[in-house]
Amino acid sequence: MEELSKEIEALKKNLSKIENKDYKECFDNVYSILEVMNQRIEELTVNQETLEENIRFMDDDLSNIQDELFEEMSIDELNDIEDEYTEINCIHCNKPIFIEQSTLSNNEEIPCPYCKKNIKG
Ligand SMILES: [Zn+2]
Repeated sequence: MEELSKEIEALKKNLSKIENKDYKECFDNVYSILEVMNQRIEELTVNQETLEENIRFMDDDLSNIQDELFEEMSIDELNDIEDEYTEINCIHCNKPIFIEQSTLSNNEEIPCPYCKKNIKG
């Protein structure tokens, strides 16, 4: 980017040597346009760098949120799920049944999904 600015400056010096009035006016216009374009490109470059930085921050934030969510799910919630569910073997067919602890305590009759008999007896 700085190279382009230098080239434009060098062009300005060369243009100042032109003595023909018509050429001089024409090239001065070209120089003005180049200078404005160069400024715009610099602005866009700065904007883009700012945007890229913001995206990096957002990406970091998202990673943190993901980590937090995953942590909660893996430690707290999975423990809760383990606490709430229990494995029991049907007394008739002896197949393992994964069941909520509260369902097991609150119901005298629970039909076995395999043999359809009451798993508690
Ligand atoms: Zn059974």
